[in-house]
Amino acid sequence: RAKEDGRNTYCFYRKEMTSTVFEYMLLENALREALKKKEFYLLYQPQIEMLSHRCLGIEALLRWHHPELGVVSPAQFIPIAEQSGLIQEIGTWVLTTACRQAKIWLEQKLDFGRIAVNVAAPQIQHGDFIQVVENVLKTTGLPAAYLELELTEGLLMKQTEQNIKQLEKLQGMGIKLTIDDFGIGYSSLNYLKRLPIDKLKIDQSFIRDLPHDTNDTAISQAVIALGYALNLQIIAEGVENEEQAAFLKEKGCHQAQGYFFSQPIPPQQVSALFA
Ligand code: C2E
Ligand code: MG
Ligand code: MG
Ligand code: MG
Repeated sequence: RAKEDGRNTYCFYRKEMTSTVFEYMLLENALREALKKKEFYLLYQPQIEMLSHRCLGIEALLRWHHPELGVVSPAQFIPIAEQSGLIQEIGTWVLTTACRQAKIWLEQKLDFGRIAVNVAAPQIQHGDFIQVVENVLKTTGLPAAYLELELTEGLLMKQTEQNIKQLEKLQGMGIKLTIDDFGIGYSSLNYLKRLPIDKLKIDQSFIRDLPHDTNDTAISQAVIALGYALNLQIIAEGVENEEQAAFLKEKGCHQAQGYFFSQPIPPQQVSALFA
């Protein structure tokens, strides 16, 4: 096609590329300033136990409000933060802010379960991650048993001695470890028996068309069965309606999270939800 259309197409592609690079640089520069300018904040989404309807956890989700761009989605800026190395600083801010908030809820005697924080692969591979976590727990005063880390399969595929040791150390501290977006990576299932993992989160792409799509019903049931076999907790993300929730509950899925239970909400609203 490019050949057929000749020069115009070439120009078109080039323009597109330039704008992408430009956009990337724009976002990276803005991201550099965002911490200083206090443009980040966290929203919180409850994780509900299906049988008891109790809240077993709350996931912290990062938001970036840029004065001109508006609210930028983490799907857009987290990859840039990872590539530019800014994820270290941002990740530490997220961890600190989430743990500080959880400590406040703890003092308010809110029975929220655990605070779940997303961790990007470069954060763990950086080496001083354990130190960062220990510092954050110390400065915020949150006991490790109230913290859960959500990791992606990308990290777990790289089963270096170093990675495994880090994860074992975290688990040894009393921190729970979850594999986020389970099922969409290119990983072998082999890592599940080798790595210290407590919980699998079924990716929302398998939940969306439940209970009608036969592939998705098969996959979600298989993950639940895998969880039972390996003695792991199973949570489903992106649960938006009663049908999906009923299906997952019937199949024995332990926990669920999604708009059906609550949108991600600001911290004051979490307190109100429990009141
Ligand atoms: P994730 O950790 O898998 O988070 C789930 C995403 O699904 C969130 O998008 C959440 O707002 C959205 N969601 C929740 N319930 C529903 C639902 O019922 N239906 C649908 N369609 N979506 C739902 P969000 O907040 O835009 O975050 C996107 C991704 O960005 C996260 O996926 C996570 O990978 C990453 N992320 C967010 N915050 C952080 C962070 O603090 N650190 C790192 N490293 N990554 C983060
Ligand atoms: Mg997550
Ligand atoms: Mg997820
Ligand atoms: Mg996801």
